[in-house]
Amino acid sequence: MSTHPCLSCGACCASFRVDFSVHETEDMGGSVPQGLVVEVTGHTARMRGTDHARPRCAALTGQVGQRAACGIYEWRPSPCREFEAGSAACNRARQRHGLAPLEGLVP
Ligand code: SF4
Ligand code: SF4
Repeated sequence: MSTHPCLSCGACCASFRVDFSVHETEDMGGSVPQGLVVEVTGHTARMRGTDHARPRCAALTGQVGQRAACGIYEWRPSPCREFEAGSAACNRARQRHGLAPLEGLVP
């Protein structure tokens, strides 16, 4: 059995701003833990740490490029659920962290 490449990556969680509707936060009846979120506007929330000069989501555990995991995997917001391993954005994030591109889509 091969290991999913995301488990030794995490680059996307340390590359992009992660914004989503405030309705996805716990306080608004969603699932994303409030302590890991900053409110941007009355409508938009952001994963804490993803707008830093060197972005790194506050929910990311481990070390990018070695061993990484989302600390709130089951409760993560929609942009994280929709992000595709092997996509152009994935490979941009990997490149930013000195990792080789993934070939094609990963199931
Ligand atoms: S989606 Fe791509 S950038 Fe994100 S953890 Fe997986 S392999 Fe890395
Ligand atoms: S919530 Fe999880 S999947 Fe989304 S950016 Fe943060 S660590 Fe990555």
